[in-house]
Amino acid sequence: MGGAVTGGLVDRFGRVHRDLRISLTDRCSLRCTYCMPADGVPWLASATLLSTDELVRLARVAVGLGVRSVRLTGGEPLLRPDVVDVVRALAGLRTPDAPLELSLTTNALRLPELAAPLREAGLARVNISLDTLRADRFVELTRRDRLADTLAGIEAAKAAGLAPVKLNALVMRGVNDDEIADLVEFAIDRGLEMRFIEHMPLDAGHTWRRESMVTGEEILGAVSERFALEPLGHDGSAPATLFRIVGTAATVGVIASVTGAFCERCDRVRLTADGQFRNCLFAHEESDLRTLMRDGADDARLADAMRACVASKRRGHGIDDPTFVQPARPMSAIGG
Ligand code: SAM
Ligand code: SF4
Repeated sequence: MGGAVTGGLVDRFGRVHRDLRISLTDRCSLRCTYCMPADGVPWLASATLLSTDELVRLARVAVGLGVRSVRLTGGEPLLRPDVVDVVRALAGLRTPDAPLELSLTTNALRLPELAAPLREAGLARVNISLDTLRADRFVELTRRDRLADTLAGIEAAKAAGLAPVKLNALVMRGVNDDEIADLVEFAIDRGLEMRFIEHMPLDAGHTWRRESMVTGEEILGAVSERFALEPLGHDGSAPATLFRIVGTAATVGVIASVTGAFCERCDRVRLTADGQFRNCLFAHEESDLRTLMRDGADDARLADAMRACVASKRRGHGIDDPTFVQPARPMSAIGG
């Protein structure tokens, strides 16, 4: 496994990559309409899934190349049976400067039993997806009757001391765009951070239409109807544009991935559950680290492959380009 690892993950445009998103599984306990078809998608073959040792090894190589934050995602990351062990192993990775920051994006269904063990294993914070506060709408949106479990998961995350707890809502026209201000109020009342996301063309069913997307500007308009907002700008390389809700300590953020692309600030790379390294959500090429690793590559060779993948990153995702083609993998298999 030896071999010297030198140099960082820098692309042609000088962007330095410090944030790694690892998908722990492509499977999910919900079937959000904007993400998965009702019957799910053909799951990755189990022989192709990275073992925990393999996944942690690749994360360690990436940390050696300058990665300083790791976000676990999926699919639903809490469906991975050994997720607490994965977190503990990643939390044990050492960087030369700051500690590795570990976070997770989840639908929260398993947080009631897992929030405390995850916190104890070294998880710092969570982003929880919550698109609606109405039980009937939750069923329509996710095809599962689990709103109460999601809400219990949110409380469990708070109780376990995972902080901050951020809530992510994907806003869709005619579906949940009338709940924007209610979601903000829900978050303020509970000391949570609300983030709204523009719908991106990443659904397995290829149903995305630009016209039906609710823009960041429209989302802010809806928030402003109930709350006074003070602009705070960007939070470092994080994708959200932030606002303080005047008179409170709460912030609200808008992730305008389509209309306000933040590609020039992007510092993210991704590892899929089957060991493919990606330089962008929208990339068409992947670097097959699983095969390299299973063929006996040492760490230096894996690092070279990661660097080469980053070097070929495009300037932007090009959603607005007429030649844009959605990637073959859906969001659930890339890792959102
Ligand atoms: N299952 C977990 C969850 O839902 O939080 C983690 C994976 S999910 C793919 C991560 C995030 O991606 C969620 O907040 C979800 O709303 C978002 N997402 C899924 N499909 C999307 C799309 N087409 N455009 C924008 N965001 C999307
Ligand atoms: Fe599952 Fe998350 Fe996709 Fe919903 S958005 S289907 S919870 S992976």
